[in-house]
Amino acid sequence: MEQRAGMRRAVVFDLDGTLIDSLPDIVFSFREACVAAGLPRPGEGEVRALIGRPLDEMAEVFTQDVRVVGEVSAAYRRIYPLHFTERTRPFPGAVETLRALRALGVSTAVATTKRSDMARRLVEALGMAGEIDHVQGTDGFAHKPAPDVIHVALEALGAVGEWMVGDTVTDLQAGRAAGLRTYGVSWGTHDAATLATAEPDVLADDLGQLLTLVE
Ligand SMILES: [Mg+2]
Repeated sequence: MEQRAGMRRAVVFDLDGTLIDSLPDIVFSFREACVAAGLPRPGEGEVRALIGRPLDEMAEVFTQDVRVVGEVSAAYRRIYPLHFTERTRPFPGAVETLRALRALGVSTAVATTKRSDMARRLVEALGMAGEIDHVQGTDGFAHKPAPDVIHVALEALGAVGEWMVGDTVTDLQAGRAAGLRTYGVSWGTHDAATLATAEPDVLADDLGQLLTLVE
């Protein structure tokens, strides 16, 4: 680790389902997008289980028609910005944890499968922009579980990543692939049993442990 001496440390967070409870607005918008593209409205649970995957992959579960997949994605990009803060809120403790990390001299970043522009609008709308040093979306490169979005975020920060915090197996796989320790949180898309299959270094019901781990 000598080569890392002097570099700032960072904790990287997934956004949806990890820092913010955004799933209801996403699920609503995706179901409406399916209808707008001429598909039957999918079940809430069906959609919820797909959150965190890229839009096209989500749509491919409901249609094999490439053209319709494109229409679902386009409709979602139209509908979601109209509803994205209706029910979306930071999870309890999220803002306080980000603030506490920065007080410890640890940089904070978001690495999300959302596009950067949408992720930044969301973070700003929720009043969290001041607590996050860099918001990185997946803008045309390989999505999680590939480590790319984490690498790009850390590059932008000029920091060494210590922990990847996420609510899905793909977050944990991406974190490990990027060489970070992994912290699975049980309140998002995947339950604790599902997260355990990815063998995270920590599996937690709150963010409290994270602060003791970076100290
Ligand atoms: Mg997530």
